[in-house]
Amino acid sequence: MPANSRHQVRRTKERAQYEAAAVHAVLDAGFLAHVGFSVDGQPFVIPMLYAREGNDLLLHGSIASRLMRNLAEGVPACISVSHVDGLVLARSHFHHSVNYRSVVCFGTAVTVDDPVQKAQALARFVDAILPGRAAESRESDRNELAATLLLRFRIEDASAKVRSGGPRDDPADRGLPLWAGVVPQEVRFGAAIPAEDCDLPPPPSVQRLLGGAQP
Ligand SMILES: Cc1cc2nc3c(=O)[nH]c(=O)nc-3n(C[C@H](O)[C@H](O)[C@H](O)COP(=O)(O)OP(=O)(O)OC[C@H]3O[C@@H](n4cnc5c(N)ncnc54)[C@H](O)[C@@H]3O)c2cc1C
Repeated sequence: MPANSRHQVRRTKERAQYEAAAVHAVLDAGFLAHVGFSVDGQPFVIPMLYAREGNDLLLHGSIASRLMRNLAEGVPACISVSHVDGLVLARSHFHHSVNYRSVVCFGTAVTVDDPVQKAQALARFVDAILPGRAAESRESDRNELAATLLLRFRIEDASAKVRSGGPRDDPADRGLPLWAGVVPQEVRFGAAIPAEDCDLPPPPSVQRLLGGAQP
């Protein structure tokens, strides 16, 4: 990587990873991104869903969205995804932290206009939220596709950063009579609540998500 690259992690460099596999692993563990870009000198950071396809991130939104149209014009953008894995509780305030996996990607977006590719991409979004769900629900029709702006964000540069393990207390603090350690954090889903007008049992995708048994 050239010196002073935009994606070079500067602090705690040992936590940085740049290989595509490491970046993709963090991206594939989520579906919520924060998309940052600047329009007329004003920065915007917008939360959006994404689905990874190869080294691209698919983004979608309404054709009425001004911000989506700006992105579609190819303004330089920066997309960040992060997962918190635990609370790191140190003996000193200074060393409190969190365990995490995060990615920062740089690139630009292009519009996808082909209706077949758009429909496939929208199915990928559904599966990115819940694997297997696209096949259990109706495909987008012509009007829905026409109302959707689909962007393919090409990742040009990316970095991943991962913190794991316990607190890094100062040696002088280790003898203090204070608790220190990690409280792991994980995403957990609750029991499925059917729509008021739905009397069917939860489909396989939901059952897999919840680990089998459903009342
Ligand atoms: C959930 C979470 C909470 C955090 N809270 C804090 C906090 O409160 N205070 C704090 O100082 N830091 C926090 N960090 C770490 C923060 O994201 C930066 O890594 C840190 O500020 C050091 O940046 P830097 O000076 O090394 O790099 P910078 O000079 O800021 O960035 C240079 C390049 O390094 C890469 N990079 C930097 N950080 C990350 C990252 N996290 N993931 C992937 N690539 C990255 C990017 O490509 C970036 O363009 C947190 C991280 C996460 C995931």
